[in-house]
Amino acid sequence: MNTLSKTKKIINKFDIKANKRYGQNFLIDDDILQHIVRAADITIEDLVVEIGPGLGNLTEYILDSAGYTLLIEIDKKMIDILNDRFKEYNNYMLLNEDILKVDIDKIANEIEIKQNTKYKRVKVVANLPYYITTPIIFKLLQDENNISDITVMVQKEVAQRMVAHTNTKDYGILTLMVEYFCDAKIEIDVPKSSFIPEPNVTSAVICLKKNRKYSVKSEKLLFELIHKAFAQRRKKMINSLESNKFNNMTKKEIEQLFTKCNIDINVRAEQLDLKQYIDIINNM
Ligand code: SAH
Repeated sequence: MNTLSKTKKIINKFDIKANKRYGQNFLIDDDILQHIVRAADITIEDLVVEIGPGLGNLTEYILDSAGYTLLIEIDKKMIDILNDRFKEYNNYMLLNEDILKVDIDKIANEIEIKQNTKYKRVKVVANLPYYITTPIIFKLLQDENNISDITVMVQKEVAQRMVAHTNTKDYGILTLMVEYFCDAKIEIDVPKSSFIPEPNVTSAVICLKKNRKYSVKSEKLLFELIHKAFAQRRKKMINSLESNKFNNMTKKEIEQLFTKCNIDINVRAEQLDLKQYIDIINNM
């Protein structure tokens, strides 16, 4: 039976209505589901974390290839459905929690102890709830955790922001944060018709591989600089930094710092690449 038929059956059996508030768009396209699992390169040595398993359409593919899977789903209604659908499996743990409140590392450690196995990699694989994509990505990137790979479905527009170039409207905080922590690659665009119900936008699968290429004196200051530079992205960057009180520096001090880094004092935030942002911090 294909995923579309399985989904229809589950929806009828449990009388499910997709909950908009939780961003529920169920993926029903088997080609795309297979593509995600292949792109995530899941092996028996991996601990996979799936955010928002929903009815379990992507989960079914993950459980068949991963060593162990941690499922985190906020909607209580989905919990019984998932336990029913996967009663034959013993390689998963299902938590009824909000991903933004979960300490993934702590639970991953508990799983390793319980399973008496040290997993080679911790990978996140998910069709994300779009209303909280950015907070989830920031959490996965910034938390000190063991996650090595993130393969997720997001809105296409968000995927484009993650891999944007300087001097474009897509280039911004998300671009710089992703570039600082990872290598990013858009895998495939996904049409609305691959979901039920159909979302309002086209989607894309993106792969983020953790890889810190730069050393910076203070990450905290770097992130503050990036956020405050783009707080008013149409202004000159110096003015945005001054009015948002970056490190409590005066305009004069910021100008001197830019000059020291060979950066034109009239630039806007979107004109500087990550190396230049890091240069600013390392020259403070
Ligand atoms: N993976 C499924 C469903 C994707 S829809 C599929 O591809 O078919 C997004 C899922 O994320 C829904 O099941 C929704 O209930 C869940 N979700 C929404 N907000 C969440 C949160 N804060 N924490 C965990 N799961 C959440």
